[in-house]
Amino acid sequence: MTGARQLPARLRGPTFLDMAARTDHDRVPGDRWWRAALRLAAAACYAVDVRLNRLLQQWREGPAAYALRGHCNHCGACCVTPTVALPVLMYRIPTVRRLVKAWHRHVNLFELLEENRREHLLVFRCPHHDPEHQRCRCYRTRPGMCRDYPQSLALAANPELFESCGFYAHYRNAEAMREALAELDLPADKRAELERRLHLRD
Ligand code: SF4
Ligand code: SF4
Repeated sequence: MTGARQLPARLRGPTFLDMAARTDHDRVPGDRWWRAALRLAAAACYAVDVRLNRLLQQWREGPAAYALRGHCNHCGACCVTPTVALPVLMYRIPTVRRLVKAWHRHVNLFELLEENRREHLLVFRCPHHDPEHQRCRCYRTRPGMCRDYPQSLALAANPELFESCGFYAHYRNAEAMREALAELDLPADKRAELERRLHLRD
């Protein structure tokens, strides 16, 4: 019995290890192929987990209150201090917190700048960020949280995006809210400010 015949290399897609090895040419020193491979694997799991959670949330609570509009203009603001918000329970278990920090330190090469105990945030500095050209030096293998940003903000109670960000949040029932505001006797600048704060602009 003969084994399955292999397709010629030009017809085969890149393997997982090919993708990990084909990292960006100006990657930071120490960003070895195995780190890139771990980031790719974790990013795939992250994408599936996030997608399932959002579908579940949508099924339970209906569509998100906001839609994100616009596009990334590569301002780089979200790469200056990438921040991880941990669920309360995860944050309160020291071993889990240590594991999360170790992952970001050893796989993403992130440097911990600050731990916000009140809001359960871990604030990092990312060595892959090239501030001169506003580029990511591990773009092909960047972590899942970087690939997802800022989509999770559509689920926030009051989405706050960076001032320079090319995305903006748009409230799904903006039309009805604008009509209600129009009925109030408000000066034009006050109404415009309220529309901005409530994410009603188109
Ligand atoms: S802050 Fe917004 S526009 Fe700027 S790089 Fe991040 S996603 Fe892109
Ligand atoms: S890994 Fe890349 S995308 Fe993520 S924070 Fe660093 S520079 Fe930005």
